[in-house]
Amino acid sequence: MTCGRTDLSCTKCRLSEKRTRVVPGIGSRRSGIVFIGEAPGKDEDLKGKPFVGRSGKLLDLVLEEMGVRRTHIYVSNLVMCRPPNNRRPRKDEIRTCTSLYLEPDLADISPRVVCALGQTVAEHFLGQKRKMKEMVGREFELSLAGRKTRLFVAYHPAACLYQRKNLAKFKDSVRSGLDAAGLVQSPPLR
Ligand code: URA
Repeated sequence: MTCGRTDLSCTKCRLSEKRTRVVPGIGSRRSGIVFIGEAPGKDEDLKGKPFVGRSGKLLDLVLEEMGVRRTHIYVSNLVMCRPPNNRRPRKDEIRTCTSLYLEPDLADISPRVVCALGQTVAEHFLGQKRKMKEMVGREFELSLAGRKTRLFVAYHPAACLYQRKNLAKFKDSVRSGLDAAGLVQSPPLR
């Protein structure tokens, strides 16, 4: 069975051995913005949906503060299966999963804006290792399937659960992305 482009019984990499469910992207494919996380966690693995655990609840709260619902945006991950013990997905796993599923999905959706949640995701799109503090809150230009796309780099919501001081910057980045997609208006700079 497939969901969009994603094969729900995929066995193309070792992550399939320990996962419960494949977790395909979900949400509005027409909003112009896609939020991308690293990999499903325990709750997502059980439910087969992205960002339904504590990180997802925080993302929902921040969106709600800005008058945006989860159903207004598209949410996906670099890899569609939970890595064992929530370890970082490995390079080859990311390569396999993005080329099979995320990239074709993004080419179909053709978003104006991508919001990268966390360092692994930002480095993937920028194609190089970078310090998070050099990327977070910044905007970059990407070419996605030949189309100019604005990339906003945000902390991963989990980084805000562990370090509350990251929350204000996380909100700013989410707001900038939503603003670029025309879903909210940023307040004027003071
Ligand atoms: N963290 C992620 O990066 N993705 C999810 O879907 C859930 C938690």
